[in-house]
Amino acid sequence: MKKQQRLSLCVFIDAFGWELARKHAFLDGILALKAPLQTIFGYSSTCDPTIITGLLPRDHGHFAFFRYAPSRSPFRWYRPLSYLPKSLMNRGRVRHKLSQWFKKLHGYTGYFQLYNMPFDRLHLFDYSEKRDLYEKDGINSGAPTLFDELRARGIPYFMSDWRQGEEANLRDFKAALGQRPFGFAYVYLAAMDAVLHAHGTHAPQVAEKIQWYDRQLRDLIAAAETHYETVRLFVFSDHGMTDIHDLCDLIALVEPAGLRFGEDYAAVYDSTMARFWFLKPGARETIESVLVTEPRGRCMTREELAAWGCDFEGDTYGELFFLMNPGVLICPSFMGEKPLAGMHGYSPEDAGSVAAFMSSVPVSPLPNRLDDLYRLMMREALEGENRLE
Ligand SMILES: [Zn+2]
Repeated sequence: MKKQQRLSLCVFIDAFGWELARKHAFLDGILALKAPLQTIFGYSSTCDPTIITGLLPRDHGHFAFFRYAPSRSPFRWYRPLSYLPKSLMNRGRVRHKLSQWFKKLHGYTGYFQLYNMPFDRLHLFDYSEKRDLYEKDGINSGAPTLFDELRARGIPYFMSDWRQGEEANLRDFKAALGQRPFGFAYVYLAAMDAVLHAHGTHAPQVAEKIQWYDRQLRDLIAAAETHYETVRLFVFSDHGMTDIHDLCDLIALVEPAGLRFGEDYAAVYDSTMARFWFLKPGARETIESVLVTEPRGRCMTREELAAWGCDFEGDTYGELFFLMNPGVLICPSFMGEKPLAGMHGYSPEDAGSVAAFMSSVPVSPLPNRLDDLYRLMMREALEGENRLE
């Protein structure tokens, strides 16, 4: 195959934040720039849709996985599961198997996990990522993604399968190079997130993982350069990671207030925030009166949520958000029972939350926040299209 002119190679590394990128040697001699990139409020379930649509959460409609919506809950029929012994049902492997089975049964193509959601309350909640974000109609608001735009224009591209592990994704990219020309590629690498959750940001495993990425990406670029005259490399992340120094049992604070879950109020306890819905008059005041006694977090104002693009129509992801201070993990939560060494999903303004943007070529304007990546990638893909033969 004749050498093609140019490839824009975008590599997404989950949780490779600025604090790590600026401290560790990484692709030195290849990268022309390394810069902080503002993240947005939420988890990967919010950040990734923003990267591929250029929209803020209120406009793409993705935030956390679970939201109070009993009439729309796909879990209505699973209440009997709550009568099975907790010791069995709360085992990680049982939940994982159930998640897989549930996903298949309902034909969900998105990322699906039951996490630690209580089975006696699951019927009150809807799941927000039923469809594969990267395929057609994957975005809740109906907005097109970068990949929808490329498909509509008939621009050939490569996209990793996010369900696969990193080694498979690296291998598939290299295999695709020899099979067909494409001017744009998006390689998805998501394993460092788990390393950071398990060990924190200072562990030797993290330094090793970054060295591993360094070797793998050098290899990837060398492979790409045998097929393309120019390889323009962009490496970026969705968020950083904050080391956990304190645990907060927020559920144990709220439950004794005497309100009935599902009758008076509903709540989702994520890892770094709790989101509340109020179903009876007075419930908000009661919840607020207990939350104010917890100094390691705070109730967010509507203005703050709006400034972060998280003012959702109909308060679909919660009427009140209680956000923990950086480094404080809600534990147990509806996401997990066990403590973690690292977590993300704190204030986007906290240093640990900041994502990273790195590039082998000068970039102007420099992306400032995750949503700018969409515009940068569109530009790269459209310019690259003119150089394919
Ligand atoms: Zn994570």
